[in-house]
Amino acid sequence: MALSGLEIFKPLPKTNCGDCGVPTCMAFAMKLAQKKAELAECPHASDEAQEVLGAASEPPIRLVKIGGKEPLEIGAETVMFRHEKTFYHQPGIAIELKTSEDEASLAGKIEEIETYSVERVGEVLTPDLFLISHDAGDPAAFARVIELVKGKSTKHLILDCPDRSALTGGLKLLKDEHPAVLLRDPLSDEDLELARSNGMSLILSGTSLEHLSTQAGKARDAGFNDIILNYDSANMTEELQANTIMRRSALKKDYKPFGYPLFACINAENGVEALARATVSLCKYASVIALPVYDKALLYTLFTLRQNIYTDPQKPIQVDPKIYAIGEPTPESPVFITTNFSLTYFIVSGEIENSGISAHLVVCDCEGQSVLTAWAAGKFVGETVAKFFKSIDVEGKIKTRKVVIPGYASQIQGDLEEKMPGWEAMVGPQEASDIPAFIKKVNLI
Ligand code: SF4
Repeated sequence: MALSGLEIFKPLPKTNCGDCGVPTCMAFAMKLAQKKAELAECPHASDEAQEVLGAASEPPIRLVKIGGKEPLEIGAETVMFRHEKTFYHQPGIAIELKTSEDEASLAGKIEEIETYSVERVGEVLTPDLFLISHDAGDPAAFARVIELVKGKSTKHLILDCPDRSALTGGLKLLKDEHPAVLLRDPLSDEDLELARSNGMSLILSGTSLEHLSTQAGKARDAGFNDIILNYDSANMTEELQANTIMRRSALKKDYKPFGYPLFACINAENGVEALARATVSLCKYASVIALPVYDKALLYTLFTLRQNIYTDPQKPIQVDPKIYAIGEPTPESPVFITTNFSLTYFIVSGEIENSGISAHLVVCDCEGQSVLTAWAAGKFVGETVAKFFKSIDVEGKIKTRKVVIPGYASQIQGDLEEKMPGWEAMVGPQEASDIPAFIKKVNLI
């Protein structure tokens, strides 16, 4: 049965040393109760505390790290659906490199992937890992590709190598880099030993839930928990069903062998199939997704979806409320206003920029809400906007006395003019995409 924060607090050392990353033992107890921490994070817990709290404080899904410096953290999820609370650790996206590929083209591909990134709503998005699959006849090719990747990239690694001696040799090149190793065969004692001595995590594969459960149980019994589970199926529906069962079993039934992050290795005939499979895996419930190809359109689609799913629904992504310069505005340039919901800001500023004019965009503090939501909540009305203008001294910085308000907030026009004497409020378009046409039509400059 789950223990309360107070029950967990009792056997803790109560020294408030902060070594667990939070300032007090009580705060740590609350984190344990919420399954957001593990008892192992307190290095001073007594044997008695370990015994009482060990299993009870274990999170339903373990946090697993891949990589040495700034590792990718996956797992530690607590809900089935994002709207129940939030998802905490977004899936890592890996690109597969095969050792059978020509080394010169591999080198070019690694360089291109290493420099590829896109910015969306203020976040820089880039693939997180490489999956190195050893499919060449030459055993030395595995080490060569690892060296090639190491020389050109800082991304974390997943290794898929059926040749034991090539794998052991490859791991020697990755000291302190804590890669994940994909096991295709059932887990052996030798695998566990190799994982322990190299600080790596193990991706266990199984073609049935029973098979995966047995393997995870074996690792758990040996005290090894850096596990990721790979339900190995060519059938997308089957994989979706298995992933859902594993997630539900871990969260709702506290079934420990399935309390680990999940892995999806995408096999597909073409880009459309790869996108369909990766999308399903991303939604339900893969923590690492390995793509067979490097395809920018595929990546951008997945980044967008991942960003939508893995942001906290209770904390909208916000930009700083202030005056933003679009182009090179002068004090006489037009003034637009909007809210500080990140997506709104990036869309509106992008459309003003597309129109080719320079302007001031005043982004009001609306706690990250979109225009309609903020208006409905009374955070984007004449009085609040006027107060905000005053607080950042818009009148002292800009001579223009015309402000374009979003079409969806046309109701605030009269109120705003009343609260900001000397200003004319113009109702702009409802959709940001109509801003360039609006600017031309009203001859704003
Ligand atoms: S590390 Fe342990 S003793 Fe120190 S504050 Fe955290 S819970 Fe308390």
